[in-house]
This record gives sequence, C-alpha cells and structure tokens, in this order.
Amino acid sequence: MTDRIAETATRLRAAVSVLDAIAHDRTMASTVDPIVAAVTDLAVQIRALIADVERRDIPPGACSLGWGVCPEHGATLVTSRGRSRCRVCDASWDYDRENQHCREPATFLLHTAPVCRAHAEAAPASARLTPIEARS
Ligand SMILES: [Zn+2]
Ligand SMILES: [Zn+2]
Repeated sequence: MTDRIAETATRLRAAVSVLDAIAHDRTMASTVDPIVAAVTDLAVQIRALIADVERRDIPPGACSLGWGVCPEHGATLVTSRGRSRCRVCDASWDYDRENQHCREPATFLLHTAPVCRAHAEAAPASARLTPIEARS
C-alpha cells in the first residue's frame, strides 16, 4: 500500500474507534439518539470505504482474504496498540496486519477464492483447496 493510503486508512481506523465508543456510550444514547444513529452509520460507511480503498490497492494475483496472517504460520497473529505479532515465530509488524487485507501472493484456490499459502493452511480441514497452476 502506498504510504499516503496506509496513513489515511490508519487515521480513519482510529477515528472509527472513537465513533464506535461514542455510539456505544449509553449515557449519551438517551439524549442524543439521532446523533448516535448518524455516528453509527458514519462508522459503517467509513469501514466500507477503508475496505474498498485497501481492495483497490491489492497487487494483482494476491490473496483475496480481508484479514492478515503470518506468511509462515497463518492465523497466529496477535494485535495490540496497532502492532501485530506472530505467536509462533515472534515476527512483528508495526501496523495492524491482522485487520488489513492480505497481500501475500495467492497459491491456492479455497473453493473459488484465490488464497495465499498461509491462509490455505489456516483453512478448516474440510475446505476444498486446489493449488493454482503456475501459468507460463
Ligand atoms: Zn509466524
Ligand atoms: Zn492470505
């Protein structure tokens, strides 16, 4: 992701957390219902916009899933204060990788969705996985 888009997404995500906190503050809800409804709607719209912007910025041939993994170990990330870390290998990223669209190259089809190796390994055993043939 380009730096500017990444920064915008990070700031919007922070703003959405604040909006969420306001929307769930019950002491405010009784007096300012219309505002709370508007704020809730705004948060939903901003999230959709972030997802959209991130999707547009995904490299061609990348994994199609909307959440991140450790490229080696799959669904092993823990995230706190905007930083993600793998519980297995202790690799870390200075951003919330867990809640960001996966950018690893797709190497398998999960049913019909292209996914990366780590996401394929994290899929349930019953999932239908097909290796993507290298096209020449
Ligand atoms: Zn790892
Ligand atoms: Zn992936």
